[in-house]
Formats: sequence, C-alpha cells, structure tokens
Amino acid sequence: MDKVATGCVFLVGAGPGDPSLMTLRGRELVEQADCLVYDALVSPAILGWVSPGCKLHYVGKRAGHHALRQEEINRLLVECAGQYVCTVRLKGGDPYVFGRGGEEASFLRESGVDFEVVPGVTSAIAGPAYAGIPVTHREHCSQFTVFTGHEGENHSESALDIPGIAAARGTKIMLMGMGRLRATMEALVKAGQQPDVPAAAIQWATTSRQRSVCATVATLADAVEAEGLGSPAVVVIGEVVKEAGRLDWFSRKPLAGKRIVVTRTREQASSLSSALHRLGADVLELPTIRIVPPSDRQDFAEAVVDSPHYDWLIFSSPNGVRRFFEAFFAVYEDIRELGGARIAAVGPGTAAELRKHGLMVDVMPQKAVAEELIAEFDRKADEFGGVANVTMLWVHSEKGRDVVYRELMKRQAIVDECIAYNTVQETEDPTGARARLQEEGADVITFTSSSTVRHFMALNLPLPPNCRIASIGPVTTATLKEYGLSPAVEASAHDIPTLVEAIVQLAES
Ligand code: SAH
Repeated sequence: MDKVATGCVFLVGAGPGDPSLMTLRGRELVEQADCLVYDALVSPAILGWVSPGCKLHYVGKRAGHHALRQEEINRLLVECAGQYVCTVRLKGGDPYVFGRGGEEASFLRESGVDFEVVPGVTSAIAGPAYAGIPVTHREHCSQFTVFTGHEGENHSESALDIPGIAAARGTKIMLMGMGRLRATMEALVKAGQQPDVPAAAIQWATTSRQRSVCATVATLADAVEAEGLGSPAVVVIGEVVKEAGRLDWFSRKPLAGKRIVVTRTREQASSLSSALHRLGADVLELPTIRIVPPSDRQDFAEAVVDSPHYDWLIFSSPNGVRRFFEAFFAVYEDIRELGGARIAAVGPGTAAELRKHGLMVDVMPQKAVAEELIAEFDRKADEFGGVANVTMLWVHSEKGRDVVYRELMKRQAIVDECIAYNTVQETEDPTGARARLQEEGADVITFTSSSTVRHFMALNLPLPPNCRIASIGPVTTATLKEYGLSPAVEASAHDIPTLVEAIVQLAES
C-alpha cells in the first residue's frame, strides 16, 4: 500500500520495570515524542520523561476500565501517525517478546505507516538475572527456551506445546504463566518433565517490589502460594536456578524493597533520586513544588546587572545560583564581568553549583543553614576585616527566611537583596505519583526544604501507614513539627549525601 501518513510510529521496548534499563534510543524517543501509547507494564517513571504537550494514550487494563482490544490499538496507532510526527508505542520488556508488537508492526505496514523498532531488555532474561539466575551457564546448559504460559483464548492463537517444552533441554522460561502455574507444572511433569529440577518465580523483577521464590518443578506452585506471589512474574525452570543463592545481588542492596518518595522539584529531584535508586530503592518522584521566576522580574534583572559592584555575593541555595547565572549571562558574556567580589554559600550543595562556573567560595559552613553561615562569617571576620560597611548582595528566594539579612545588617553590613526565584505548588502529576502513593504506599518520604513540607501538606494526601519521614535539616524539621509530624531521621550535614546516609541507616535499623 502507498504511504498515507506523515508520522512515524516507534515500537519501543520500555525494559522490564526499572526505568534505567531502557535503551538510550528509547529514552531519546520518549523525550521527543508528541504522542505516547503505553500499557500497564511500562514503568510510570518513564512517563515523567515526556515533553510538555505530548499526548498520552493509556491502552492497558485499569480498575473500572477495559483494556483496548488489539484491533483498537492497531487503529489508534494509525490514527496517531496521521496526527503526530513521532508516535512512540511503548511496551514492557521487548516489543517483540509476547508483546504483540509483531501484529502492530504488520498492521502499520499494511496501512502504509512508517515504523521503527527499538528493542528492549526483556523480562525473560532480566528477571532471572535480577534474582541471581543466569539463563545460560556453561556448567548447566547450552540453550534456553522462552514460552508463554497463557493459553490463547481463541483458536487462532497457537496453543501451548506442553510435550515440546517438557522435552526441551536447557533452561525454560515462562512468561504470563502465573494464572495457571499449578496446571502448567503438572502438565509438564505428566509430559515427561523431571519434577525435581529447580524452578523459581520472580515477581515484579528489577523493581523495588521484586520478590522471588526458589523451589522445584513439583513444589513451585505451593511455594508461590505460600509466599503470596502473583503476576507479573517470570518462571524459570532449570539447573541454573541453583545459582540463585550464590549470585543474588539485587536484593542485597541496602535500600532494596524500599519505596522512597522524593518531593523536591522535578528539575532538582535527580541527584537525590539517582542516589537512592543506585542503592536499590524504588523512587517515587512526587514533586510538590516548582521553581518560577520572582514576582518582580525587573528588580531581579536590575540586581543582576548591578551585581559586579558589590564586595560580597551571598548565595542561599543552588536554585539561586542557577537562576542568578542564567540572568547574569543574559546580560554579560564573560564571567570576569562579575569582578572580584568575595563569595559566600550557605552550604556544600550551593558551593558545588558555583564551582560549575569556576567560582570558589570564601565563606561556607559545613552545615547548610543560615545561622551557620552567619557563624562562619563571624569566625572568619579577622581574615577579611569583618563585614561592617561592606556591600553585600544576598541572592535568595522570595519566601525564604530573613536570618542572613537581619544578622548581617546587625553587624553593620550594607545588604541588598536579589530575589532570584519563587517556589510555588506543583500542579502537574504526569506520572500519577499521587495516586500511586495512596494505592501502593511508601516506606520513607523525604523533605528537602520547608516549602516541600508546606506544599505536600497542601495536597491533603494522607501519609501512608508506617511511612517514615526523612528531613534534610533542622529548619525543615521545625516546619514538619508545625504540622505535628516528626522525622525518623535528619541529615547530619543538612545536604543530599547525608540525607541518603541517614535513610540507609534508617533502613538498616
Ligand atoms: N514484552 C515483555 C513481555 C510481555 S508479556 C518482555 O519482553 O518482558 C507479560 C509478561 O511478562 C508478564 O505476565 C510476566 O510474565 C512478564 N513480565 C513483564 N515484566 C515483568 C516484571 N517486571 N517482573 C516479572 N515478570 C514480568
């Protein structure tokens, strides 16, 4: 058929669950997509990567809604290709491994729509790997078979070849098999499968909800029932399952199995989220705040233009540094225009942001709180002759505390303010994080500033039962207490690395 649509449909594998197991090409396409069609096994975090304005179509099963039928999905894809330049059809795992990707591709071809395929990491291989099971191993096997345990509902779908699977050598991997697990295992044994061969089931593989059991072909159904495992799960049969005890690595991570909520802004979440994720946590990004320009942009712009005339520049947060230099380089081309001002930062995170511009700080407390910054000014007064009659530009947020201003004025400094940004409630929730917090709960919720606390409370989401609170420092803790909440831990140096350490200790306690 002739080509009719202008858009291209990308059949993209989303990987087995952990969003960081998606391919680079897949991520690039999700970021570029102007239309995204996805189903149930796609990690919600991936939906957070789409650009604003991207049309989202959910086609999976959801409480109260039927999943779209395959023919409806096929037609939807063709329609999308007519409307959008880049339609991403995102599927769990690999799109061509029991994902009906082949059917979608042929329908697109028949309809004259261009398509490309971006393979994904399949749960058939990644699931076992995350439970310590290599699907092949020189000592155990030289082949593996992947099959579906789901009998086709209509006769056009090919039925399960029980005798063929029973007779196959090597590792056997079953997807979609939990609903009929007992019956399938019994049928395999009847057809000649050795009942005492090791077998395992891995549920929610590669996510923090991963759980697995190891048994034998004869006992797996009982073990799964006893542990309460269900779909989605990968079942593995074969001698390689013996390796699970020795090669298990994922469940040994310090935050494995823990769901942790990150409430800071979307743009800032990544440093905390990735640190927690590396330690095995399932991170739920639920941004409560968003950074916007200050109410008085003119004042801000003038303060930035005048900034080269000050003896000191004082930065209260990494956001302040970012916004200040965005505005600075809109006016000036060269960092040397800043002149020879001394620089103070409220803590190591802010200093790190300044270092990105090649700027070192002259005054910085080890703990990121305003009072400590003032104390550090006092300690270092001899070094630079104190602050009396010295001109200072204090770069901060609209709703911040005024400790720095008050205390420096008390010491006779001449302080001007540069209000670089404002913090407002985040209204968007593209990943459905708020509903997931209610439905699935969480182990720890993190607050990295007073405004994250206030705006979280404004959402009126009840804290899940047994969810503990981690606070970045005393100011945030004081705000939590205003709401009758007390943190289980507080970061010792009031920054992200020590917040992560505190959460690890909490998990171990
Ligand atoms: N295309 C997918 C498979 C789709 S069929 C892939 O390549 O992974 C759906 C089945 O995949 C589920 O019933 C389950 O058997 C398996 N599956 C997908 N994600 C899984 C996960 N995170 N943990 C365990 N099993 C998973």
